[in-house]
Amino acid sequence: MTTRTACPYCGVGCGVAGVAEGRALTVAGDPAHPANLGRLCSKGSALGSTVGLEGRLLHPAIAGRRASWTEATRLVARRFSEAVARYGPDSVAFYVSGQLLTEDYYAANKLMKGFIGSGNIDTNSRLCMASAVVAHKLAFGADLVPGCYEDLDLADLVIFSGHNAAWTHPVLFRRMETARARGQRHVVIDPRRTDTAEGCDLHLPIAPQTDVRLWNGLLADIIRRGAVDRGYIAAHVSGFADVEAELAGSDQSVHAVAADCGVPAADLETFYRLFAETPRTVSLFSMGANQSTQGVAKGSAIINVHLATGRIGKPGACPFSITGQPNAMGGRETGGMATTLAGHMDFDDVARARVQRFWGAPTLAAAPGLKAVDLFEAVREGRIKALWVMATNPAVSLPDAGRVREALERCPFVVVSDCMAETDTTAFAHVKLPALAWGEKSGTVTNSERRISRQRPLFPAPGEARADWRIVADVATAMGFEGFDWTSPAQVFREWARLTAYENDGRMLNLGPLAGITPDAYEALEPVQWPVTAEGGTPRLFTDGRFQTPDGRARMVPVAARGPAEALDAAYPLALNTGRVRDHWHTLTRTGLAPELCRHAPEPYVELHPADAEPLGIADGRLTRVQTRRGEAVAIARVTDRQRPGAIFLPLHWTEAYAPNGRANPLVAARVDSRSGQPEFKHTPARVRPY
Ligand code: SF4
Repeated sequence: MTTRTACPYCGVGCGVAGVAEGRALTVAGDPAHPANLGRLCSKGSALGSTVGLEGRLLHPAIAGRRASWTEATRLVARRFSEAVARYGPDSVAFYVSGQLLTEDYYAANKLMKGFIGSGNIDTNSRLCMASAVVAHKLAFGADLVPGCYEDLDLADLVIFSGHNAAWTHPVLFRRMETARARGQRHVVIDPRRTDTAEGCDLHLPIAPQTDVRLWNGLLADIIRRGAVDRGYIAAHVSGFADVEAELAGSDQSVHAVAADCGVPAADLETFYRLFAETPRTVSLFSMGANQSTQGVAKGSAIINVHLATGRIGKPGACPFSITGQPNAMGGRETGGMATTLAGHMDFDDVARARVQRFWGAPTLAAAPGLKAVDLFEAVREGRIKALWVMATNPAVSLPDAGRVREALERCPFVVVSDCMAETDTTAFAHVKLPALAWGEKSGTVTNSERRISRQRPLFPAPGEARADWRIVADVATAMGFEGFDWTSPAQVFREWARLTAYENDGRMLNLGPLAGITPDAYEALEPVQWPVTAEGGTPRLFTDGRFQTPDGRARMVPVAARGPAEALDAAYPLALNTGRVRDHWHTLTRTGLAPELCRHAPEPYVELHPADAEPLGIADGRLTRVQTRRGEAVAIARVTDRQRPGAIFLPLHWTEAYAPNGRANPLVAARVDSRSGQPEFKHTPARVRPY
């Protein structure tokens, strides 16, 4: 029997058609799923190699010994209740994941914000797109992604700003390659000549962290050319004059901008002209833009250009933030981030009262909680007495990961719910709770174009593993809270959909027609883009020029170009950029099981330009030390002119188990964008030495 489900990896959210026999699985792309129309990339195609039970956590464990669910649940409930009673609600925290399903996220957020009464629930999506969230809220009044994948088919020009789509969102990239055959043009803004940049129409290999300068320069150029859509601005946009004044404060000539960005003026001129001449333009931005202390500014600079030209809410025209994880969007929607409540509501009195009323909650978090990096610093300083990590591996993935390990070691009580038994983070757990993995879970995810899809189970639950929403609900009930007596994911989803519609006075995040969904209808739910109306889903937002701000107008936000938080110097003259490779995912717990995926990048490597390698005697293939002020990693040198001189790239995936000396993120400074809390993974001063 074929089961239609959704891929567990990236934010494209491809539909997968799977046939299981025992634990064996064959997969194909789901031809009926609108995100991928039957295509899968290498990772999706290899799902069958990753669903074995080796290494799985199948039973609860307390202090390393097997325990019953009753014992483990009671212990977690007691330790969290004791911490709250003694030190207050902000003495506990959850750190969750874009791998969770929406139902899991909803349950965890309800427990923390509504019943424990703290905002201290944050997600690893903080590392992925938190800057875009803030930029959306500033411009549109809420975290709203304007466009849809169809816009990528319709656009005549696609700009990839810090987005290596060929590796990170391969199926979407293939869609755009198809559009290229009919004349769509591609401009790539990236210090690296990535696979996305190979063969594009124009590659602008900008100096690291000069994106704001480049996008501000584009807006200035549009103004000079008279290509601003004055009619659209008059009807729908505020703040244009403020942005114009900000631009007037520095030299915005093409030559000056090109010099600061380190690209040929003629190429920049070509880009600016192309943009001005092409109404159907989509500007994609992803980790390369977001993972920066200027992440919000970069998002705002991109959105400003689209608002000034009225290129939003129209077919083939929008700024488009693409998310990394399969359900980063679901977390944003349900309040998985410390900075929002739920349903895109903020911590204002009206929204707080509304959500508290809906939940019948005894209390409600009064203010946003700690963002990921601050949260672990609070753990390290002893302010957090009990921490629950769900479906993520912060001991590897967070910046300055050595400090994170110190934090976990010091924390009086650490709970980890995960499907894997031994990760760098479970090593610190006092209690391990076995969670279902992809192929066993049942629930929903939201992809980058706001499309909700079902993840359906292909296998029965192994051992004693349970759904995350149920684990949370059982702990909540054991803490004495009511309102967590769901018996199926369909019930959780229905409650979530009802919340989005509850006293909804114009919020676009609205699943109202799904608020009464039956179990059978939930089972059969077809992919649908929110907002959901009686007529169905909504592909494109802002088509009427109305935004979700109090006056309905979008806001342009003045942004100034700044350098990175930590400048290069003589001791550390190279800009270290950490990121993903094509065939691996996060910390290898799944893709590390598939030999066909490991072949693409079997061991840690560092890419560097010949001009940086040769003076140090570093030859291609040689073991190399990558050093920052926080530590050292050892990796194989890949000497290549795809890398800009002065900049190096180190993939993030390797862990203690795979390559203890090859871990990248312990090298990264825990410096964050002050508004979004997103770390600057794309720029840490570094040096290289032969091994
Ligand atoms: Fe999965 Fe993303 Fe590949 Fe689609 S593009 S198959 S969602 S990893």
